[in-house]
Amino acid sequence: MPVDFNNLEIAFAAKNDKALKKTHFVFSTMKSNALVKAGTTLTKLALKSGLPVKGIIKRTLFDIFCGGETIDECVRTAAQMQKFKVGAILDYSVEGEKTEAGFDSTCAEIIRTVERAGKSENMPFAAFKVTGVGAFDLLAKIHEGKALSSDEEAAYGRVEERVARICGKAAELGVPVLIDAEETWIQKPIDDLTIAMMEKYNKGRALVYYTFQMYCHRMLENLKELHAMASEKGYVLGAKLVRGAYMEKERARSFDLHYADPIQPDKQSTDRDFDAGLEFCVENVKEVNLFAGSHNEDSNLKLAKLIGDHGLSVDDKRVSFGQLFGMSDNISYNLANAGYNVAKYVPYGPIKASMPYLFRRAEENTSVKGQSSRELTLIEREIARRKS
Ligand SMILES: Cc1cc2nc3c(=O)[nH]c(=O)nc-3n(C[C@H](O)[C@H](O)[C@H](O)COP(=O)(O)OP(=O)(O)OC[C@H]3O[C@@H](n4cnc5c(N)ncnc54)[C@H](O)[C@@H]3O)c2cc1C
Repeated sequence: MPVDFNNLEIAFAAKNDKALKKTHFVFSTMKSNALVKAGTTLTKLALKSGLPVKGIIKRTLFDIFCGGETIDECVRTAAQMQKFKVGAILDYSVEGEKTEAGFDSTCAEIIRTVERAGKSENMPFAAFKVTGVGAFDLLAKIHEGKALSSDEEAAYGRVEERVARICGKAAELGVPVLIDAEETWIQKPIDDLTIAMMEKYNKGRALVYYTFQMYCHRMLENLKELHAMASEKGYVLGAKLVRGAYMEKERARSFDLHYADPIQPDKQSTDRDFDAGLEFCVENVKEVNLFAGSHNEDSNLKLAKLIGDHGLSVDDKRVSFGQLFGMSDNISYNLANAGYNVAKYVPYGPIKASMPYLFRRAEENTSVKGQSSRELTLIEREIARRKS
């Protein structure tokens, strides 16, 4: 029987009435684009001028979208999710580091997430962004193929070393690690580093996962090419498929700098390639391990169906579903209840440093972007169901 994402009792089983009401409040506030815009500006100002807004943020946005401020706080969140067989992927959400000391400390923190996952039954993956351990501008320069100064060469050597250290620890502890994809104009070094790590560690199963942003024109071909390359070299391709998170930024930059927009012309094209990517991975599951990161109900249903059509068991280790903490619980909890492998990114970190992440979630959930109305309708229906 197909999974039913409308089973709200399962979807919200982890939320008591109070938590559900709070989620309702936050999502109804985010529904207003004007409020999100004003709220974002005011919060930035308040944080800058030291006004005591942290408490309010912690009790609202932060509580909904983050697992805590520290790994230990997230462990409690993860234990709650484990009751419903939903795994947690610790995601250190501090962004915009610029110093070598900052990159070292982020690297050490990511390694702590790997160690924690190694000890925990309900943390099936670790994840990180290369911009957490290396400078954005340096990655952009390498992407463009520009000559590096000797200081930059040395700095990039340290980035390679940090990525190698994280993946080395993951290999030692047997924790699969997802390397996030970011802006297309810094992706080349991220891709090269990821491929090198996959080649080193993906023997017999994927330990390192490459992220394919299917909103890019050539990404389906890229997926097929990397599969061919992995097969030729005798390693398993770790494929994390997502649609892609930086569309507006990508479009604006390509417009400003007069180059061809790297993003597909429309949503249907992205949807088509995302779903074709799922199909390709499941068809080639002997050589590809798939992690599908999406809140799209049709794509998640499609993947569940592909698993059945190809005669795989629902909990086949080679296929996992992923969502973000605080979003699309109707998908995560219903899939997990049906026995599929499901894990949610659980962002964490100091509140102030998590704000860019929270602002993105808030913007993504306005009525303009369409997510909040679905979430809100489900929450309202569940509140009504509980009252009846
Ligand atoms: C577990 C997980 C991990 C993730 N990791 C990453 C990551 O490493 N890197 C990353 O970039 N993103 C990542 N994301 C975010 C992801 O890329 C999407 O932005 C987000 O999930 C929304 O897409 P969707 O599949 O959930 O659903 P939908 O709501 O169906 O799709 C929205 C997406 O469709 C695409 N789209 C929308 N309009 C258009 C249009 N007009 N033309 C072309 N395409 C369009 C955009 O990618 C948009 O984000 C992750 C998401 C999850 C759930």
